[in-house]
Amino acid sequence: MNIGNCPRCGRLYALNLRELCGDCQKEIEQEYTRCAEYLREEKGATIHQVSDATGVSSKQITRFIREGRISLLDAPNMAYPCELCGVLIRENSMCNPCRNRLTKEIREATTHSTKDTNQNRSHEATYKAVDRYR
Ligand SMILES: [Zn+2]
Ligand SMILES: [Zn+2]
Repeated sequence: MNIGNCPRCGRLYALNLRELCGDCQKEIEQEYTRCAEYLREEKGATIHQVSDATGVSSKQITRFIREGRISLLDAPNMAYPCELCGVLIRENSMCNPCRNRLTKEIREATTHSTKDTNQNRSHEATYKAVDRYR
């Protein structure tokens, strides 16, 4: 059995597929229920209003949205922060300016790699970084 520190509360726990200890999993389920119930009542709420009313951090709410557990289709005023600059968005994981900038950086990296093969390693890092943002 593998033992590790829970990334959320820092306690030691037996590692599992969900990457959180049992207590935190339960807490997150409760947080999700609170958010979902609040949004059922207050369809026009923003992420900050949900966070204030439920005590759930906007970061965690963002995670629920990304996981598809909270649907933005029913919540016209809900949005979550861009992963890079924090501007509020409703689709993808980052805003358009950040995506354009990243696309440009990838294009430049690709152009350089045809000239200089020594730089390949750093381009791989760029691709990995991009993968994270999908
Ligand atoms: Zn925990
Ligand atoms: Zn951005």
